[in-house]
Amino acid sequence: MFLRSVLTLACAAGVLVAAGLPAAAAEPALKCLIVDGQNNHNWQETTPIMKKILEETGLFTVDVATSPDKKGDMSTFKPDFAKYNVVLLNYTGDAWPDETNKAFVEYVKNGGGVVVVHAASNAFPEWPEFNEITGVGGWGGRNEKSGPYVYWQDGKTVRDTSPGRGGAHGPQYPIQIVVRAPDHPVTKGLPEKFMHSTEEFYHSLRGPAKNLTILATALAEKEKKGTGRDEPVLMTIDYGKGRVFHNVLGHAGTQMKSVAFIVTLQRGTEWAATGKVTQKAPDDFPTADEPKRRE
Ligand code: ZN
Repeated sequence: MFLRSVLTLACAAGVLVAAGLPAAAAEPALKCLIVDGQNNHNWQETTPIMKKILEETGLFTVDVATSPDKKGDMSTFKPDFAKYNVVLLNYTGDAWPDETNKAFVEYVKNGGGVVVVHAASNAFPEWPEFNEITGVGGWGGRNEKSGPYVYWQDGKTVRDTSPGRGGAHGPQYPIQIVVRAPDHPVTKGLPEKFMHSTEEFYHSLRGPAKNLTILATALAEKEKKGTGRDEPVLMTIDYGKGRVFHNVLGHAGTQMKSVAFIVTLQRGTEWAATGKVTQKAPDDFPTADEPKRRE
């Protein structure tokens, strides 16, 4: 009797596995490609951390495409973007081959997801389509010709065409993130305000900013060489059928231990890949005053 029950259970479990019902037993459904190889930041440190952060959701398999070194022969760098649901950019450096640029733009136009992390938005100041995909960026000679400054004021997004350089940051400090689009899948269910433990917080970013939605902001404090404005932290951009999640956070590995970074990267990457977010906010999510870290 006992044996028979065990056999029945085992059989039932087998049927469940075959039907793909237990989530834990299923292969992650989404394919993510991280692009790195050049960056004025430590991509060798941050790529493995972000790979782990994404794989921990059980939603993604993550491959990495590493470009040749600076001034290396870029002619063979041709990642197969179209194989992926989402491409995470951890790259700023030498131009890619024209063929690769075209393949990337086609991939996004056709519905591919993109995640932009921190310095990746500084890449390719001379590539118009790239700047439309990332929405805003900094440095690289960016100025009023690149597009407006974008920030939050009086309950709405401001596109400010006043002249000046694009991109700046002060010293690192903890920032309080304020959700401005609480009904968006990436931010839905998160508290209105939450702390990020420390960041080299970019401000004064500018770019085409077409079809750009600010999801969350933080105050770029004047005492920290900031603008005194609520500057975008999390943004989305629609480009063709593609979804872009732009996260200005993530200067280095220590910033990536902050739960605010981890959770927004996990949720934003799922959204860029699928248009939905199935993840719940974790129990260790930070409050309005207290950052949380996973050491
Ligand atoms: Zn940085």
